[in-house]
Amino acid sequence: MSGRLTIVGLGPGDADLTTPAVTEALRAATDLIGYDTYLARVPDFGTEQHRHGSDNRYELDRARHALTLAAEGRHVAVVSGGDPGVFAMAAAVFEAVETGDPSWRDLDITVLPGVSAMLAAAAEAGAPLGGDFCVLSLSDNLKSWETIAKRLTAAAAGDFVIALYNPASKARPHQLGEAFDLLRQEKPPETPVLFARAAGSKDATLTVTTLGEADAGLADMRTLVIIGSKGTRLIPREGRRPLVYTARSEGEAR
Ligand code: SAH
Repeated sequence: MSGRLTIVGLGPGDADLTTPAVTEALRAATDLIGYDTYLARVPDFGTEQHRHGSDNRYELDRARHALTLAAEGRHVAVVSGGDPGVFAMAAAVFEAVETGDPSWRDLDITVLPGVSAMLAAAAEAGAPLGGDFCVLSLSDNLKSWETIAKRLTAAAAGDFVIALYNPASKARPHQLGEAFDLLRQEKPPETPVLFARAAGSKDATLTVTTLGEADAGLADMRTLVIIGSKGTRLIPREGRRPLVYTARSEGEAR
């Protein structure tokens, strides 16, 4: 049996938002590798499947483990939430291939896309990513806060809509507040801000506020934050939360 490595994304939460291609790859795998929380979302297919769960910190170790198993001839699925290429395992696997055993380059490696959190969050709000947007992870585990601050300021100067992954964790409670402070220097206080928690799952909540009033305390590890551009608009509705969209054309609504 020749080995195979498939890197999959489960989507944001709802089983319905996992693509059929991903479900098929999961079913066909002999070994599943990923963070425990994600493996718990993979159904039991009734086949003999080894599950190698781990905590979220050692991505490169997990990637090397997956490659080692694939090199032994196993059919390995590496499991991420959302899309595997967005702040997730696909890049870790390729980093491990680049720096690891040269024979790993001959393995059959496939990436299967998934619905990323920003897409599920945007869909719940309306169409806030309808114009040009930038995506950042606020986590400073893998890069400095200086880099993050520079990129945030540049994104604001370019008037991009900004989607923030990893806005807060127990270890990093202050960064989103600092990010809002930076953005307040560049963007008007009435700029729409969205907090989408557990988007694309049955626990989803969405808060629509403004940059002037945004409370960083609303974000946790399951929250995606979207900060609007000059083209982001609210459509008020009686007794319901407003629809939020970013116009595709510059200037006033036509
Ligand atoms: N690969 C994933 C992102 C992993 S980084 C994807 O494409 O979605 C983890 C961060 O993603 C979380 O801290 C949170 O900011 C965001 N996230 C993941 N799932 C989410 C969901 N269902 N709703 C809102 N944000 C989510």
